[in-house]
Amino acid sequence: MNASIIENIRRVEPYVPGEQPQNKVIKLNTNENPYPPASGVELALEKLDSDRLRLYPDPAAEVLVNALAENYGVDSNQVFVGVGSDDVLSMCFLTFFNSEKPILFPDISYSFYKVWAELYRIPYECQKLDENFHIRKEDYYKENGGVIFPNPNAPTGVYENLEFVEDIIAHNQDSVVIVDEAYVDFAGESALQMIDKYDNLIVVQTFSKSRSMAGMRIGYAISNPTLIKYLKDVKYSFNSYTMNQTSLVCGVEAVRDTEYFHETVERIKETREWAKAELKKLGFEFPDSQANFIFATHPKLDAKVLFEALKQNHIYVRYWGSERIEQYLRITIGTREEMETFFSFLRAYVKEQGGTV
Ligand code: PMP
Repeated sequence: MNASIIENIRRVEPYVPGEQPQNKVIKLNTNENPYPPASGVELALEKLDSDRLRLYPDPAAEVLVNALAENYGVDSNQVFVGVGSDDVLSMCFLTFFNSEKPILFPDISYSFYKVWAELYRIPYECQKLDENFHIRKEDYYKENGGVIFPNPNAPTGVYENLEFVEDIIAHNQDSVVIVDEAYVDFAGESALQMIDKYDNLIVVQTFSKSRSMAGMRIGYAISNPTLIKYLKDVKYSFNSYTMNQTSLVCGVEAVRDTEYFHETVERIKETREWAKAELKKLGFEFPDSQANFIFATHPKLDAKVLFEALKQNHIYVRYWGSERIEQYLRITIGTREEMETFFSFLRAYVKEQGGTV
């Protein structure tokens, strides 16, 4: 092929998602919710009229936007929805990170940030987490073209309190600050309560974790009407019909069932706290996670070898092997039963390897 063809191609190193094995395994590798979606979702699917699929969906995704606005007590013009928060975040990068100055995000964080920055040719500078995997807020006081961080952070699970988050937002009033709250429902307070106070703040959340709908692909951003309008302008210049009809009707049902939402979130938090205690008993160490996963290491066990051994036994967790985190595994919180199976394997494994039991 002619070299100029290759030269002109937008070449990127893509994000590598966690494995999605099609056989039956204990799947603790991509932070999905182990419980089914709200019962209204199943009913909505049963009622879905396939003839409706002839037509394009509502490009404004009004029913879902309204349900979210009502749920969070904001105006509909403060809500933007997309195909998972990956789509929403990607649109945010394209819309708001348009400066010559570098955007800032943590060195250990959601690895998609670097991929979008590269894809859109946005300069970026990673800021090192401290030795306990906490964000150093002073690193975000310098001039920048935007700031993004997850809270709780992924894959560490570390949650920073609102005062801390506010400090970063307040120090960056000349640029947009995106708080990626994919896991906030398992943690503490959301930065959503600061939306009216800071016009540079965008909060992004998802249906993939706390609402058990990773397969439906629904994410959303909440901010002030001005930033949301700019976000919509970019989305409509890209693809008008991002939200399919099925996701719209199912999404509404998931938002409305607040009782089930709280019940499953509490169940996962309970299992997480129990899993922390069990991991400790086996000699594992981890930053205190407030998400639906635990990022753990063991002083006597090699993470990659353990990762492979778990996989051999049909238990999938996530391993990156990248700088600073070569010895860590990220374990999603499954059902209590799934976690019992995981721990019976671990107990035997630790014993075999001569570790602490
Ligand atoms: N942000 C973070 C921090 C995540 O871990 C994930 C899940 N991979 C996402 C965003 C994207 O999730 P989704 O596109 O399913 O909403």
